[in-house]
Formats: sequence, C-alpha cells, structure tokens
Amino acid sequence: MGILVRGEPLSWEETKELSDYIKDHGVKQFIHLMKTMKQRKYEELKWGDEIEYLLFKFDHEKKRVYLHCKTQEYLERLAKHNCKFEMPVTFVEEYGSFQIESTPNKPFLEDFEELNNVIRDMRHRRKELMLLMDSETETVLTLTNFPRLGCPDFCWPPAQPSPHGNVSQSMFFPDECINPHPRFPNLTRNIRQRRGKKVEINVPIFKDENTPSPFIEFPDIPAAKPDHVYMDAMGFGMGCCCIQMTFQACNLCEAKVLYDQLAVVTPIVMALSAAAPIYRGYLCDVDCRWNVISASVDDRTDDEIADPGKNKARSSRYSTINSFLRSEKFSDVNPPYNEEVYKTLIEANVENIDPLMARHIAHLFIRDPISAFSNRIELDDENDTDHFESLQSTNWQNMRFKPPPPGSDIGWRVEFRTIEAQITDFENAAFVSFCILLSRAMASFKCNFYMPLSLVQINMERAQKRNAVLDEKFYFRKNIQCCKCECEPEIVEMTIDEIINGNGDFPGICKVIRAYVNNMDLEFVTATRICSYISLIQKRASGELKTTAAWLREFVHNHPLYKQDSVVSEEMTYDMLMECNAITNGKECPDLIGTLRQTSDHNNKHFRRDSYKTNDNDDPISPVFDANSDHVW
Ligand code: GLU
Ligand code: MG
Repeated sequence: MGILVRGEPLSWEETKELSDYIKDHGVKQFIHLMKTMKQRKYEELKWGDEIEYLLFKFDHEKKRVYLHCKTQEYLERLAKHNCKFEMPVTFVEEYGSFQIESTPNKPFLEDFEELNNVIRDMRHRRKELMLLMDSETETVLTLTNFPRLGCPDFCWPPAQPSPHGNVSQSMFFPDECINPHPRFPNLTRNIRQRRGKKVEINVPIFKDENTPSPFIEFPDIPAAKPDHVYMDAMGFGMGCCCIQMTFQACNLCEAKVLYDQLAVVTPIVMALSAAAPIYRGYLCDVDCRWNVISASVDDRTDDEIADPGKNKARSSRYSTINSFLRSEKFSDVNPPYNEEVYKTLIEANVENIDPLMARHIAHLFIRDPISAFSNRIELDDENDTDHFESLQSTNWQNMRFKPPPPGSDIGWRVEFRTIEAQITDFENAAFVSFCILLSRAMASFKCNFYMPLSLVQINMERAQKRNAVLDEKFYFRKNIQCCKCECEPEIVEMTIDEIINGNGDFPGICKVIRAYVNNMDLEFVTATRICSYISLIQKRASGELKTTAAWLREFVHNHPLYKQDSVVSEEMTYDMLMECNAITNGKECPDLIGTLRQTSDHNNKHFRRDSYKTNDNDDPISPVFDANSDHVW
C-alpha cells in the first residue's frame, strides 16, 4: 500500500501548508516521467499478484480467535531466513499490524507453464509464513475481513481503543492494531484531521427474524445510522484483504486498452469473489468490502460532501475510476478535475500525455496530499517521483495506471484491484488465472468491452449487494466483437451467469477464454488445471458453487449457537475460522470448491502473443473469435 519511506511524517497542518508545493512538483515529476519513458516498449507480457493475509491466534480452551498483531516480528524473522530459502519470497507490511502482504519474488511471464506456477508460488509463500508459526495456535488466512474486527478484545496481545488518543480516536479499534510504520498511523491521523472528525462507516445490517427493528446500537451517536452497523476507523476498511493483479503491457497504448477493458470487468469479478458479509460481529446486508474501505478513508469535510463544487471530489479517495484512458466517448461521468494541473499537463506538450491521460491525472490531483515525510520534500523532479506517488498511491481505485518508475527497467503497468481474498490458494489462483487469461483472450480476439463508465459505476454498487452474484443484473455490452473502439455498444442488463456462461444472445466471457485456450493445443495436465480454474468461476457464476460470502453466511445460519439475531459471536467465529483454516489446509469443501481442487502440475506452452496493438496508431479492436462455435473442452 504505497511506498514505505522512512523519515519524520508530517502532521496534517504541515502537509496542508505544503499541498500546493507537493502537487506542483508531483505534476512536474509525472511530466518528466512521461517524457523520458516515451520509447519504452517490451515484447513480453509480465504479470503478478499481490495477496494480503490476516494473522490469527487461537485459544482452543476458551474457543476464541484473535487477530494476531505480529507482522513486524514475522517480517524480521522472514528477512533473516529469506536468504536460506530455495525460492525467496517477498513479504511487506500492510495497514494492520495483523496483516501481511506477499508477491511472487519475480513477475510471471507469458507462458502457460506460469499458470501452474501461480498456485505453487502461493502455496510456497503461505508455507514460509506458516513455518514461523506455532501450528497449534497460530495461523495465516486469506480471509477478506475478520468478522469480529472492532468487537471487544478482538486482537492479541490485548489492547484497548483510545477514543481520546491522537491517531484514529476510534471507540472500537485500538491504535496498536495499526502497523507501526509511520506511514500508516500518519495516514490515519491526517485523514481524520483533514476531514475534521473521525471517519463514519455505516453498513446496512442483515435483518434476521430476531434482529431488533429498528436496530439502534448507539442512540447518542448521530453518526451511527439506525439499521446499520457503525464503525469509526480506517482500520475497519484497510484492515480488509484483497488480491491485486498487475499487468505489464508491451507499450503505453496496450496499457491504456487493458486499463479500460479490465475496468469494465472489475465489478463482475468483485461479485464473483464476494467474501465479506460480516462486520463488527454482525451479519450485514452486503457481501463485499468495497464501500467499507471507501468510507474508511474518506477525508472530505462535511461541506465538501454537501457541496462538491466544481473542482471537488464527488467520491472518497477509494472509489471507482472516473475516466477511461482511451475512450472519450465512454468516459461519460464528467469527473471533476484540477484545471490548473490539466492545463500544465497539456501545455507540457508531451506525446504520451493526451487529453484523456491529462484528465485522469488532473482528477487524481483534486485531492490534497495526505501523507508526506520531512526528509522527502525538496526532491530532484527528474529522478524522484515521491510527490506524484503521494497522490497516486492515496487514490485507491478499482484500476490503477502505473507509469514506469524512474531508474528501473519496469514498463507500463495496470493494476486490477477488486478481487476479494478467497479461503484457499486454489481459489486465489483461479481468480488470478481467470484475469490473466481474460486479458489475453480479449487481446487475441480483439474484444471490445467498452460501455459508458457511468454504468460501470452502477455495476460496482450492485456487485456489493448481498448475493449479487445470483440476484443482481449488471450492465454489459452484448456486441463484444466486430467493433471499432468507439462504435455504438448494445448494452443489456444480464445476470453474472449470463455474462460469464452466456445465453442465447451472448457468448459469455468464459466461452471467449475457452476458445482462446482451446487454440493453444495444450497438453492434458495444463489444460486440466486451467479448466478447473475456469470451471470454478463458471460454477460460482451459475450458483452451482457458493461464493465465500454465501458460504460464510450459511455457516452462521447453520451454527447451533446462532439466534437468528444477526450476531456472530466469539465462539461462532472461532468455529468458523477453525473450519476456514482446515479448508485452507486441504479439507474438502464441496459447497465452495466442489472437487475442482484436485489438479496436477507442470507442462509448458506459450500464450499466443497477440498484443492489442503493435503500432500505436492502429485501432486495437477487430473481430476474430467464433462465438457460435461449440468447440470447447
Ligand atoms: N487492502 C486494500 C483492499 O482490500 C488494498 C490496499 C492496497 O492498496 O494495497 O482493497
Ligand atoms: Mg496491499
């Protein structure tokens, strides 16, 4: 989550004073970057995942489970041992002192064998972490959120909230649960101070038979809405975990197309991966983390929210993108942007900064910088990018465009940011593989997913609803073939089942992927593995398998201690996490995974390398695949 600079963090007052300076130099740094990176082109696709984990401690006698604030200790021990590993692993801090993030040590390449390596790598990372733990009482899980985060005594070692402290001032979330790296407490405090008060998060409660109605927990706190679960700290959001995928494109144009096309798919994948239905010990009426994180980092003042004005943000810093990078026509939400920054970017007259790119950056720059370090203010704008990154890394959107960092051989990258963390490495590998295969299939068949961004934003809201995967319809483009980039879309509302598995009128995304994979003439073992990944996604879409969120809900409903009152107690949570831990470590779970996990290793074939374009002036969209063919395996 952003660059972890060491140094003295600045307070909000100090950062505010420097706001114009930081933005001014952030733009200069971006312009310089875009100028010097003009020629950067790569032949090869590279990609990788980032997984966030939660650390837990069990007390089997008391039937309790705690979030274990042990990240720092594990990181230090990993650093000591890493050199001895056969396959080194990369772990870094995340927001919570009970979270850890890992990435493959080096990016994956465009090679089918890599799809076998994804799960191998994920298993290896988890194993290295587990080796540091007492296997009887400690574990690491890829759960999107801890159901009882913010309940009394939810963490270990025990710590109490500090409502009058100077960091989050939460009545639920102790500051000890924030990673001690100065970036994290500082971000937390500065967001609160910029906003003028604590963040306010209200998630609709799931009303069961015995849930009080109206449900009012805190009659004296105006911020706490009736019939909602109220939360008041950044940790409720940023303490959630996800998987992010980074794609390195071969050139800037391909990166833009990937950014735009994948943005359309982000809500669909979020609904399919939904895994967060319980907050602060209550079953809620949402299945995903997205709006919780969004509210948890919303630094806008009441006045700004009430009257966004011309240049002011209409959404939190954590939200859906506001413009495409390659389509003016479908960027229909007319986002606010920093006009001065826009003008500077256009007047710089840099080939890589067209009006859409300028608008994207100028939109990021409507925010104030919210985190700065005293030793990193006066910088060399030709070699440093801290001020650009300061804005870039605190605009958390469903997609992120990442220009090449200076002084590296890294290329143009885009990041896909909506996948919720799944219980098993198999599911996580399936989602990651689905996304990479989709990106390749889209490129190969020159698919066109463009549709108005306003509809993508509506889809993002729908995707979070309870059981959205089966109950909601989503806007999607029917004519994904035969199109020039800006041609008229035929937009229809479809269920996720129709979008993924198709209907009489629409081939379905998985059919496109299967047709693409089918062309590869794979050997049996690799084909089987890929097939099991795609099947998982297809079965989640059709309802044959449950989403993690649906499975967790059902676990609660079936628990003998559940009183139909929406409360997820300590003992229920203990049982739930023991079960999750068992499933993570191999126990079968037919409702969630079926029998798909039994897959095998190895084999090696190359992806067919069909870049969206090789020449920056080509239109990337043209039809190739035969949607009517039944030739799938
Ligand atoms: N944990 C955040 C999420 O679930 C992402 C933080 C980051 O940007 O790394 O979306
Ligand atoms: Mg992260």
